[in-house]
Amino acid sequence: MLDEYYRNGKLFITQMLKNEDPIKYFGNRDTVFARIDIDDIFIKKYYRQPLSELLGSANVSKIDSERDLVKLLGRYFEVSGKSRELLNASFFKTENGRCSYCGQEGKVFANRSYVFPFERKIDSIAPEEERLRFCKRCGFTFYSGMAYLYAKGELLFFFDSYNLDSLLLINSAFKDLRDPTQMNKIKKFTIPSLHPYETMLITLYEFTKWLKQKGILTETIEILREIKLILFSGSAQIYLSKVFDGTILEKIVRFFNVLISKGEALYQSRPGEAPQKMRISPSDMIFHGFFRNLEVSRGHLAENLRPRDQIAYSLLSGKVPFEALNEVIMERHKNKQQFPFYYKTFIISFLEAFGLDEERSMFEQINALGYALGREIKGTNLESFLWDIFRARGYEDLLNSLAELQLKLKIPLDWRFICAYEKDWRKVKAILLNGMANAIYGGRESE
Ligand SMILES: [Zn+2]
Repeated sequence: MLDEYYRNGKLFITQMLKNEDPIKYFGNRDTVFARIDIDDIFIKKYYRQPLSELLGSANVSKIDSERDLVKLLGRYFEVSGKSRELLNASFFKTENGRCSYCGQEGKVFANRSYVFPFERKIDSIAPEEERLRFCKRCGFTFYSGMAYLYAKGELLFFFDSYNLDSLLLINSAFKDLRDPTQMNKIKKFTIPSLHPYETMLITLYEFTKWLKQKGILTETIEILREIKLILFSGSAQIYLSKVFDGTILEKIVRFFNVLISKGEALYQSRPGEAPQKMRISPSDMIFHGFFRNLEVSRGHLAENLRPRDQIAYSLLSGKVPFEALNEVIMERHKNKQQFPFYYKTFIISFLEAFGLDEERSMFEQINALGYALGREIKGTNLESFLWDIFRARGYEDLLNSLAELQLKLKIPLDWRFICAYEKDWRKVKAILLNGMANAIYGGRESE
């Protein structure tokens, strides 16, 4: 992650100088950056700027002492409570050695959590000479990367792009999601979340909504393909990290845009439905209606939200996790919780946004079959077949349960679709069951 974070620092430094003196620092960022001498004077003059961007200018301007600044940094990074100094504990505490980034021999200092925050904790038990150390130039550039770092709960993330102008654009747009009264951490949204991927998915949804409101959705989508999203989570020894490619980001944002528009259209056609189902705006109807209802009931919030985090991870990876969804739907059914609203709309919109045409037709066929079956058994003692099918542990098992159900129902079933996807029988089972459950305790088939 060094290169990615370094580019953010480079962007911040060049942008800061361009704002300060547009004539002196006119031109290409690479050229401008190459010209700058990052020495002690430079560091002393500018070290408060990235801090001020990270923490909010109002929060930093009131504070004079380094000790207090370090304390504030503790809101984002692991900083010892005893730390009193910033500059003398990092950039100015040098010895001779080789910079881990540029490889040059000279004065280097040991990495600090606020310089490059993603040195794995496990490395702290590695021999001292294997830990990251930086020359002043590289170190200050990494340190400046914090200006474009975002945090929500235990989640830390940032964007990257080879095109620094696109990187600047995405950051300028994204910064409005921060809350200056909360040390510039990402705002609280209406859907509470705990785990990293569900938090990220909700944040991207809110980002899409905000871009739409600002009228800059179209131009932002155009640059998203060049952008990467890098996510870190965890505070203990082990970090979780994941990189999301721009093509995924672009599709996710397009997908959310469709959900928002469909929610508004749905509201137009059936006013009154949103307030009835949930107290939210029409644009949020579909995303909220579906995503909020993926919470299970295990008596502990972290556990209740864990399956949803897994589902969010799959969605962020461009996949519909039918089996994980089925686990949630069955668990909710057992606990008499509602079926996730707008199930079909959500899934079809996702498969369309990601261009998964084959999977879409598979979903439509099997979902329709499941829904039809569910309608037949709804309210009868045959409802228990939902659980028989759920327990099927193989393709044969699944066919046997269905054969038995067919016998009881005394109606012919069109099994061609199921046989056509024998290899994917787990997915088939999940889609079928979700369709059945939707008919039994959910909503309209079209949704
Ligand atoms: Zn260096």
